[in-house]
Amino acid sequence: MVVSDVEGAKFVFVTSPVCEKHVMGFSHPESPERIREIMEAVNKLLETRNGEVAVLECKEADLVDVERVHDSDHVELVRRISKQGGGSLGPDNDLNSFTYQAALVAAGGAISAAQLVLERECGKDGFGSFAIIRPPGHHASRDMARGFCFFNNMAITATKLLQEYLVGKVAIVDIDNHFGDGTSEIFYDSRNVLYVSLHAHPSFAYPGKGFLAEIGKDEGEGYNVNIPLFPGTGDQEYLEAFDRVVIPILEAFKPDIILVSAGFDGMYTDPIGSLALTPTGYEEVAKKLYATARKVSSGKLSSILEGGYDLDNMPKCVISFVTPVLDPSVIEVEKPVKAGSRLEQTRKTIENLKDILSPFWPL
Ligand SMILES: [Zn+2]
Repeated sequence: MVVSDVEGAKFVFVTSPVCEKHVMGFSHPESPERIREIMEAVNKLLETRNGEVAVLECKEADLVDVERVHDSDHVELVRRISKQGGGSLGPDNDLNSFTYQAALVAAGGAISAAQLVLERECGKDGFGSFAIIRPPGHHASRDMARGFCFFNNMAITATKLLQEYLVGKVAIVDIDNHFGDGTSEIFYDSRNVLYVSLHAHPSFAYPGKGFLAEIGKDEGEGYNVNIPLFPGTGDQEYLEAFDRVVIPILEAFKPDIILVSAGFDGMYTDPIGSLALTPTGYEEVAKKLYATARKVSSGKLSSILEGGYDLDNMPKCVISFVTPVLDPSVIEVEKPVKAGSRLEQTRKTIENLKDILSPFWPL
């Protein structure tokens, strides 16, 4: 693994070879190859942008950080099964002897990436980070491993930032094909954490949750924003939802930092996802995210890898998160995108969402 000097870099990838040691069985889509393919693309980028782009090796998260979010019984169970050489925590959650260590390192990577962004001046010259880690995290609840996820890397990171840094408000934007039910549940009654998710409609996709009307509860009412999208939703529909719902809410919330649950399984070629996005669509999403961060959070934005199983297209999407930081002029030029088969339904969803959320946000 190439580890480079992060000091002068404008974009830092955080990763570890330990993340490749967790394996869920022969030919499982959530495989170590996902990280290998992405890092191959990162290493290619390093050849041309060395000095501007760097790679940092991450370490295990401290248990105290993990247990702020997860019940200690759950953490101990993952540790014990791994120590025994492996086992299973449900149909989507097989463990081998490295799973516990990889899950801790993944959480540590997500934290490190966000810390880098907090510590740097991001607005003027631009700075960004991306944690290339696995196992992913956004389905893991406080006490349960679910959907290939063991510890919720995103929730662990957001909670640490709120408790240990001068961070009052965190916005999480979840662009994975699947609703991040774990992250949503963990912050469902919080108004310090805004959770916005665009995902395949729960009537047709895992995890069967993430409907429009799930908007948070108690203090957190209005701070959980679900944008369910029908199968076949393409770039144009997706970007309209971004422009008309995601960005206005982020602008009104004014977070101290934006954390992105970056899953790329909404790609039209993904073997698991059901949306129809293209690499150009993800490129536009990345540009919109960075443009919004510049406006609302002093440029502070860090991304954490979630799903994405098309090994050919996913690395391109990850790299498209670097360009708006290194070459900000790309943000000004919108590339033309095509609609999928769901333009009318998506526009209806946006109108419904505006009705539901207008008491909370200026939509
Ligand atoms: Zn997913």
